[in-house]
Amino acid sequence: MIPGARLVLLGRQGAGKGTQCVRLSHHYVIPHISTGDMLRSAVREGTEFGLQAKAVMDRGELVSDGVIGGVVAERLAADDTRERGYILDGFPRTVGQAERLSEITVGAALDLVIDLVVPIQVVLERLAGRRVCVDCATNFSVDSPPRYGWVCDNCGGEVVQRADDTPAAIQIRLDLYERETAPLIAWYLERELLTAVDGLGTAAEVTARLVAAVDARRP
Ligand code: AMP
Repeated sequence: MIPGARLVLLGRQGAGKGTQCVRLSHHYVIPHISTGDMLRSAVREGTEFGLQAKAVMDRGELVSDGVIGGVVAERLAADDTRERGYILDGFPRTVGQAERLSEITVGAALDLVIDLVVPIQVVLERLAGRRVCVDCATNFSVDSPPRYGWVCDNCGGEVVQRADDTPAAIQIRLDLYERETAPLIAWYLERELLTAVDGLGTAAEVTARLVAAVDARRP
């Protein structure tokens, strides 16, 4: 069996992180942990926490480091991640969160942090066309829609535009990325954990590059 891996995928929203995380999680048989999906599921469940998170998410802002760090710490303590590893999608997003992650992973350090690089113009086009299943979070787009209407190929759920994919919220998220998340690239470079991978091309081409980068890193 392919050994597990402890991975982080960084990149601007719309770089294709979600799709590639799903593909890598199948390849290495590791859980895909998306903090955005975890928050959206709390919103759907209508918990107090979900309601507070929804307001922040709809504005395109970030949930506090303390709150999201607690959510991730709890998830990384589960048996599946302890045994096989994981791929983190959407976390860390700030240097404070990266510091929290290194505390959480003491004794089982990350194998690799990958920066998935896609030019800003391509990201803007992808975000405007992105559509997502409300039930299982599979990504589609106006250029690559589900087979029948806007019904998810995977689970039959409704496929919609995300509430935070409005032009105003997209701009706020991209600005936040430059200000809060982009500094993580230098932060992880200094710790010799970072590699950059070209995110342009078909999903299969990008996955092949990502797998080559991860495998090159492991003994
Ligand atoms: P995503 O699906 O990764 O684009 O996340 C959607 C939204 O969830 C973000 O715009 C934030 O409001 C919130 N969120 C997700 N992950 C984080 C995180 N690591 N830190 C703070 N907020 C987050």
